[in-house]
Amino acid sequence: MKIAIYPGSFDPITKGHLDILQTATEIFDKVIIAVAHNGAKHGFLPVEERVKLIKESVKHLNNVEVDAFEGLTINYAKEKGAKVLIRGLRAVSDFEYELQLSQANSALASEIKTVFLTTKPKYNFISSSTIKEIFLNKGDISKFVPEAVDEYLKNLTNYS
Ligand code: ADP
Repeated sequence: MKIAIYPGSFDPITKGHLDILQTATEIFDKVIIAVAHNGAKHGFLPVEERVKLIKESVKHLNNVEVDAFEGLTINYAKEKGAKVLIRGLRAVSDFEYELQLSQANSALASEIKTVFLTTKPKYNFISSSTIKEIFLNKGDISKFVPEAVDEYLKNLTNYS
């Protein structure tokens, strides 16, 4: 069984992430979308909420598992028996960082390969940070995020 891990912050998950995930599910037998828990980095939403929102948003995909992890992605991948990491590319500016990351991972665990995917052009510019910016300035994010995220953020009244 070919298992791939799609790691990231997903803070929150967007339609760009979902598009990448959908493509990955067509290529691999199982895809584990895993929220990287970085203790030092204060996120926008708590990791448990990000996981819940992802679970709500991927209900239509039957070969997806949702999880969170701490530490190195390669160690998590080994634990899960996965030999592939999925990462998304939007623009050349993503490429430099993603290339470095994949080479670092490869130097640490040569058996684990990174596969880069792209989204449909209409989702290409979407990033979690753009979503946060629009949301915090009271803009409409419904076109850019899954319904569960839109609903959740609409109900988040005490965020400043
Ligand atoms: P990280 O903090 O690890 O970059 P993100 O949640 O921001 O986590 O992104 C996870 C992965 O999804 C990254 O590889 C990122 O480049 C990719 N990604 C995010 N949004 C898009 C998009 N709109 N199109 C293509 N790839 C995307």
